[in-house]
Amino acid sequence: MYLLGIESTCDESGIALIEARGEKVKILAHELRSQIKIHQPYGGVVPLLAAREHKKNLPFLLTLIEKNFDLRKIDYLAFSVGPGLLPALVEGKEFTINLAKKFNKKIIPVDHLYAHFASVFIKNKLHVWQKIKKINFPVLVLIVSGGHTNLYFVEDLTKFKKLGQTIDDAAGETLDKGARALNLGYPGGPIIEEKAKRAKNVYPLPKPLLEKGLNFSFSGLKTAFNELIKEIKEAKGTIDEEEIYNLSASLQKTVFEILIYKLNKAREFYKPKEIIITGGVSANMTLRKMAKKFFRNIKVIFPERILSTDNGLNIAVGGYFLLKEKSLALEPEKIEVYPRKI
Ligand code: AMP
Ligand code: MG
Repeated sequence: MYLLGIESTCDESGIALIEARGEKVKILAHELRSQIKIHQPYGGVVPLLAAREHKKNLPFLLTLIEKNFDLRKIDYLAFSVGPGLLPALVEGKEFTINLAKKFNKKIIPVDHLYAHFASVFIKNKLHVWQKIKKINFPVLVLIVSGGHTNLYFVEDLTKFKKLGQTIDDAAGETLDKGARALNLGYPGGPIIEEKAKRAKNVYPLPKPLLEKGLNFSFSGLKTAFNELIKEIKEAKGTIDEEEIYNLSASLQKTVFEILIYKLNKAREFYKPKEIIITGGVSANMTLRKMAKKFFRNIKVIFPERILSTDNGLNIAVGGYFLLKEKSLALEPEKIEVYPRKI
């Protein structure tokens, strides 16, 4: 069957087309337009601008796919219904519903976090049949992105138990805000990663909520980081390049140590067979190395780096799982978007 995946939750407009048959998938198209340049001057994503860009980008991406594929052959549309920015989701919803109605198709509503989970099952390889990756359940799944830091115990493709989440800022948001405090630009995570590579020292920073359950908290760390910047500025009169390297490494290391510590706590209690770390922050090579080094005797699985951040392919694959496992597909009128999960 043919599935079209549509992503419009935040600042990436994405559409992908997959052919799926049993345990195999073939990626026929994977189109993505990042809006980073549009939002950069504002230091973060502006929801109404994101919506305006999706309105422009999604029809354009579809024309690229249409060049090589007759859209009438599509069996289902998979659409990321949230969590995300409401104006962006509404724009994507309108696009998806119109398309579904035009071709008389049903829509599979895909939770955005579920799509991050789905991203580890496939390789970003066009036009070849590939086997869906086998995972040894149960697994722990940590989703670390710009808006979320969620930890789950997962028993099969659709049986999720949430163990913890951030009670304030998300891990990616902490890196983004840290980068902004250092005037490094947006999105901060990849910039911090680059700067940290040249660090000579790291400063100790607090790890709030560390011993208290499986929830995460980063706002105290953010405050301490801002204080540290102020102290260095006062002492040295400026934040020079070397300090930027050191500060970036300190923030990144502390965030990742918190993530790994909590993951390990959960692992001791729930005894999973494997660990999955996914979402935008999982693109970070330092996090990957730290996690692999720490969890020596348990497999840690990451998505391909390019699939860590938002895209239509994750939605299409997530949609295929939901259809297969739960027969989930709705008439277009039934589709509702949600900015956050209740
Ligand atoms: P997402 O919300 O899944 O689209 O991911 C976006 C978030 O991932 C933002 O907070 C980015 O700063 C963060 N991010 C992207 N690439 C990296 C990276 N290489 N290292 C750390 N964070 C990253
Ligand atoms: Mg995301």
